[in-house]
Amino acid sequence: MHTIPFDTRAVFIGGRWQAPAGGATLPLLNPSDGTTLAAIARGGASDVDAAVAAARSALAGDWGRLTAAERGRLLLKMSALVLEQADELARLEALDVGKPLKQGRTDAVALARYLEFYGGAADKVHGETIPFANGYTAFTLREPHGVTAHIVPWNYPMQIIGRSVGAALAMGNACVLKPAEEACLTALAFARIAGQAGLPAGALNVVTGLGEEAGAALAAHPGVQHISFTGSVAVGALIQAAAAKNAVPVTLELGGKSPQIVFADADLDAALPFLVNAGIQNAGQTCSAASRILVQRPVFDVVAQRMAERYRALRVGPALDDPDVGPLISQRQRDAVLGFLELAGGVVGTGSAYIVAQAPLPATLPADGCWAPPTLVAGAEPGHRLAQDEIFGPVQVLLPFDDEADALAIANGTAYGLVAGVWTRDGSRALRMARRLQCGQVFVNNYGAGGGIELPFGGVKHSGHGREKGFEALYGFSTLKTVAIKHD
Ligand code: NAD
Repeated sequence: MHTIPFDTRAVFIGGRWQAPAGGATLPLLNPSDGTTLAAIARGGASDVDAAVAAARSALAGDWGRLTAAERGRLLLKMSALVLEQADELARLEALDVGKPLKQGRTDAVALARYLEFYGGAADKVHGETIPFANGYTAFTLREPHGVTAHIVPWNYPMQIIGRSVGAALAMGNACVLKPAEEACLTALAFARIAGQAGLPAGALNVVTGLGEEAGAALAAHPGVQHISFTGSVAVGALIQAAAAKNAVPVTLELGGKSPQIVFADADLDAALPFLVNAGIQNAGQTCSAASRILVQRPVFDVVAQRMAERYRALRVGPALDDPDVGPLISQRQRDAVLGFLELAGGVVGTGSAYIVAQAPLPATLPADGCWAPPTLVAGAEPGHRLAQDEIFGPVQVLLPFDDEADALAIANGTAYGLVAGVWTRDGSRALRMARRLQCGQVFVNNYGAGGGIELPFGGVKHSGHGREKGFEALYGFSTLKTVAIKHD
């Protein structure tokens, strides 16, 4: 039995841990071996009501009275506590998400960095004076929305909490956080850290539970003034519909089918580690996973061969063993990924999808873990499901291209538009590609920029809208008021 150092069956409302109104719980599974880790509170509509009311009281009380600098200092305190507890947070994430320890630690450090970034920024966001008509003074004020809802998925709980709750708190909102039912230990640990740092009661509330219960109640709640949602396209559409009923703004951070585009003049030694890592990180369950690798024909075979070598050497194993690739989040996710792999049944050279290389699954893996072999695929046409659908597993598809126009047509030819990578030594080409790629972020001669806390992030098309991360998020988590004063 693994130790969880807090009561997982409680929700965090108004600074207090309490049983959910319905008293029910849900099991939390360890994806590395299928065992039950803990029971979590199955929060519902009345818990969400109480959390929204607590957030509202915080805005009218101690939290709302703090200056921006005081809010920033609290976030910095939380950041320091996260760093102090990084190893423990990584262990919780490994158990809960199946994330290799090293990646869990990276996420904890990223959470600390988000809190540091937004803590430092809290008192640096301000309005402007506007040269308006004679006899007037006009200016703008940046104000919090009020109560903000944060519905997050299971794949990067700490990073997503950092970028959305961190920015929202910096701007003076009071937050209600609904973590995913599959993985919520670090969200609960984060609430504990907020308490340890002395965040005023009600500024952060956490209600665990099912998406269709606690999540839907939160999205539809008339007391919520902004919704930040990260998750699937299908649920994102439900969230936007619920928000429309209350006329509140939403940020949707949805899925992706992001390409890395390798031109023949690229520095392949520099590109290779990024090509594979951005596909297998967190077992491919990353919204910005580089799940399509577009390679210019003259270097296609060499790139395929070198990626294949890396795939065959990948270590797959339980998260606490800190492998290269851990399990998927659930058996359901594993079945979905294996279903995609069945589509790669072709034979080399026939023009249908085939498997180039696969990492071995050791015979010692726990039988009830959610294992899928990291797999490199080629031969699929750009319109094939393997090259179009978000697989959300450790599967990358190699696609050849002829020239820039061809690369752009393939890269832009999916429903998504989240991130793209371009590998080339030609600066003009890099700039042309950066302008013509339809997505929210473009990386040239790198991918992901080591997390890029400072870099605004978000999608176009089915990847969503609105921006989180960077300074930009602070505008999304605030509203602008214009004041015009006539004085003579
Ligand atoms: P999901 O949409 O099923 O769940 C996400 C969250 O929404 C969970 O907290 C869940 O409980 C909640 N939810 C589910 N149904 C709901 C409902 N009816 N009303 C309100 N809330 C509800 O997504 P998932 O399968 O957990 O996550 C995977 C998806 O998330 C992938 O598509 C991935 O690309 C995307 N994602 C995007 C980003 C990004 O930043 N763009 C980051 C991580 C994950």
